Amino acid sequence: VPPPARSLTRTTCPYCGVGCGVLAAPDGTVAGDPDHPANRGRLCSKGMALGETIALPGRLLHPEVRGKRASWGAALDAVAEGFRRALAERGPGGVALYVSGQLLTEDYYAANKFAKGFLGTANIDSNSRLCMSSAVAAHQRAFGEDVVPGVYEDLESADLLVLVGSNLAWCHPVLFQRVAAAKATRPSMRVVVVDPRRTATCEGADLHLPLRPGSDVALFGALLAHLHAEGQADSAWVSEHTRGLEAALDAARAVAPRAAELTGLDPADLATFFRWFAATQRTVTLWSQGVNQSETGTDKANAILNCHLLTGRIGKPGAGPFSVTGQPNAMGGREVGALATMLAGHLDWERPGEAELVRGHWRAPNIAVAPGLKAVDLFRAVSAGRIGALWVMATNPAVSMPDGSSVRDALRRAPFLAVSDCVAETDTAEFAHVRLPAVGWAEKDGTVTNSERVISRQRAFLPPAGEARPDWWIVSQVAARLGWGDAFAWSGPADIFREHAALTGLGNDGRRAFDISGLAAMTNAEYAAMPPTRWPCPAKGPARERFFSAGGFTAGRARFVPTPRRGESAADGGDGTLTLLTGRYRDQWHTMTRTGGVPRLMAHAPEPLLAVHPEDARGIPDGALARVSSTQGAAVLRLRHDAGQRRGTAFAPMHWTARNAPAARVNNAVPPKADPVSGQPALKSARVALSAY
Ligand code: SF4
Repeated sequence: VPPPARSLTRTTCPYCGVGCGVLAAPDGTVAGDPDHPANRGRLCSKGMALGETIALPGRLLHPEVRGKRASWGAALDAVAEGFRRALAERGPGGVALYVSGQLLTEDYYAANKFAKGFLGTANIDSNSRLCMSSAVAAHQRAFGEDVVPGVYEDLESADLLVLVGSNLAWCHPVLFQRVAAAKATRPSMRVVVVDPRRTATCEGADLHLPLRPGSDVALFGALLAHLHAEGQADSAWVSEHTRGLEAALDAARAVAPRAAELTGLDPADLATFFRWFAATQRTVTLWSQGVNQSETGTDKANAILNCHLLTGRIGKPGAGPFSVTGQPNAMGGREVGALATMLAGHLDWERPGEAELVRGHWRAPNIAVAPGLKAVDLFRAVSAGRIGALWVMATNPAVSMPDGSSVRDALRRAPFLAVSDCVAETDTAEFAHVRLPAVGWAEKDGTVTNSERVISRQRAFLPPAGEARPDWWIVSQVAARLGWGDAFAWSGPADIFREHAALTGLGNDGRRAFDISGLAAMTNAEYAAMPPTRWPCPAKGPARERFFSAGGFTAGRARFVPTPRRGESAADGGDGTLTLLTGRYRDQWHTMTRTGGVPRLMAHAPEPLLAVHPEDARGIPDGALARVSSTQGAAVLRLRHDAGQRRGTAFAPMHWTARNAPAARVNNAVPPKADPVSGQPALKSARVALSAY
């Protein structure tokens, strides 16, 4: 029996970047919000099970200092003292925060302000570094700003939808449902999946291109050369709004003749894909972690953007490049600059005067003057003893980072480690000197931004569990203890949102796309009732649905980025090793602290399996335990023969942890290599040997 409507709270799902609206009742009953533009009433299996995660045992209910229950005052004093000591001994470069796309925008804003304006360090990175930082860097290189030009409707109205490195059916299920429904209504719509694996997303697709891992640059470089040769350039648009085409074409032409060889694709399939792309004005290319989590992730994304710039297919209904974020608020983190490489409000150190705008807005005594350490380098610095105090918020790097064993060692050796989380026992919290209980999904109040730039409210419908507090409040209390209380004296998330929104309008003559200054004067009541709102929403000037169809790039002109082949494409197992691709299962989220406690979600995939093509199984039977090992480390999983796996590759889920399957932590076998531009770890290219266990 559905609960009475008056008891329902409109909130947002805390899992993936689709950002579905949820109607939640106090007893944990949930339903999709029919009025939310992202999902129009739909929810996926994870969203439907949200109510079953609310009362999970294992919540962190009280602050702890060195393993003992403590008062909030004592715990906050301990964190302030840890940072005060590290600042005194090592300076601003000797402290760091590692935060999360699970945080609300207001929490993110508070943490970023604390680090970059008051601690004086840009050593604040987010687990979003592992998710979409290559897309961010590619947007910045091409457009001058991190902007997703399109909206979800474009996926439905496209005549050709190209899904690259995305298992949309499992990782963004509601978006996949929308695409499937659109294709059922309009069967002429074509879907092409570019992925080394034959995933659930391939069901119903018109073409699957099982390319060699890492060869996306060659694929889209060859496509660029083909489009140009076939006269598909929108020459007037290119000449008016872009620069750098010739250099990009030179690089593309260098790989084009070898496209089939480099990608390992059937030349006939390649020709079909190129023909369809050339002939279809309404084309959307959507990409996700298969592109981003690579040593060439930024180049891959720019190779995709180049094709859309050449054809002028950008920011138009049914046409454009589209990066989807993995996490619920990866986009919000980008907006407030909670990555080591960004300032708040899409402002940038490289543009003169913009750091000063942030400093002035915050009245910050110690504004960071340069980018800080990205995730891989940050944990290396902890390991090398260069970080005296580290604060980890709402994330579990001991499991999610590559080279997991070294990250665990780094956390163990950190002179001071604070962890704020809603969960008591995680692989990371195990090493914390201070644990701070944060509110969980049903208790949170603030905003998140999804992959199509829609800002939605997450609203609390339950009181905080135990002594849990909002992350922004925790940050503000530590800041106050360090003498900066005035700048963090917010009465609630609405205050923070207004401050954040006002910053986006400073010095913005319409050139910066991210502008929500029109929301800066919201009253508390308006904030409380705020409907899903797509940015931009400037105080002056028009709101826009899409970006860049008529130019207007932040950099003036968009830039074609040359993407020469840098040699990541993997061998096909001829050298006896396999390329280990890591990723998600449909019903699990990150390190399973919530979804792992729901029996019906666990039933979908009760244990982690290592999928390999039967001919790559080295004689190990299906169902037997197998070991994958690299120069970095090893993991043991049950083997699954899967003819949909490309020869020379293996796939394993990244969810399992030391707490539920210590041997199956695949990131132990993944080296800490990263894209040199974005710093995003290459989580899908470890060379591993396979053996019976
Ligand atoms: Fe939540 Fe994503 Fe599923 Fe929507 S698609 S219900 S946001 S996990």
